[in-house]
Amino acid sequence: MAKIFIEPIEQKHIQRVFQAKEEAKREDSRNYLGFSGIGDECMRKVWYDFRGYDGTVIPGRVKMIFDLGHKIEELSCHYLRLAGYKLEHAWPDEQMSFSAINGLFRGHPDGVIHGVTAKPHMLEIKSANKNRFEQFKKKGFAHDQKYHAQIQLCMMYAGLERGFVFIYCKDNCDIHIERMYYDEKIALHFYDVAGTIIASPHPPERGHKETDIKCNWCHHNMRCWSNMGIQKRKTCGTCQHLKSGIQMKCDKKKVDIVKWGLSCEEWKLNDC
Ligand code: SF4
Ligand code: SF4
Repeated sequence: MAKIFIEPIEQKHIQRVFQAKEEAKREDSRNYLGFSGIGDECMRKVWYDFRGYDGTVIPGRVKMIFDLGHKIEELSCHYLRLAGYKLEHAWPDEQMSFSAINGLFRGHPDGVIHGVTAKPHMLEIKSANKNRFEQFKKKGFAHDQKYHAQIQLCMMYAGLERGFVFIYCKDNCDIHIERMYYDEKIALHFYDVAGTIIASPHPPERGHKETDIKCNWCHHNMRCWSNMGIQKRKTCGTCQHLKSGIQMKCDKKKVDIVKWGLSCEEWKLNDC
């Protein structure tokens, strides 16, 4: 078989595509603490994200992997409908949206699925590579605390007692399905964690040691361990004048912060 050589000129085009994606403005740039993040093992990372601290730049190729996950979610909805299940508030229809703690804590479940049993189920769709897919099959969906927190909170806000998890393997299109029950204790625990993160004026304790691989991957590594983060976004969450609480206040202007994620000319970096 003839060998294909990738010439520098082709490399240039490849880089051009990755670069364009890297620089593209995040379409889903969020100004709130998401149900999907609250189960993270490191609360400090969750706090940095919530406050709007800039992390290291996410490479275009990695952002494209996230896009692929969204496309798989759409395909999965299509396959479930094809199999005769009735989906509500699922792609391409408008998703449900839950908001708590003054709008600072929010979640957007993938939908509600009917036809699994007599009762409706909260639908959660995930995609995974083969290794991770096999882990879900072996250890169960709930072994991932982040995902588990998310679906439990969604069930709490939707008033549903059951969850239906659909995991799609990106390598070979295999499917893993799990059903689960609502657990009030878990949902309330993560609701409390969210309240603590939102009200905290300082970054919480680090969740890992510096040598942990999870810190290696973390986009806040430089800020967390070397206090060397570069801050381009200038919003209230990263401002010295912010007075934290469930109701955020501006100490400079003596007003309540009614919209999270905005800025003003008095912004001064809270370098922590
Ligand atoms: S670098 Fe490690 S300890 Fe620091 S925020 Fe990230 S995950 Fe947490
Ligand atoms: S000074 Fe401006 S940016 Fe800072 S907290 Fe007040 S309103 Fe927000």
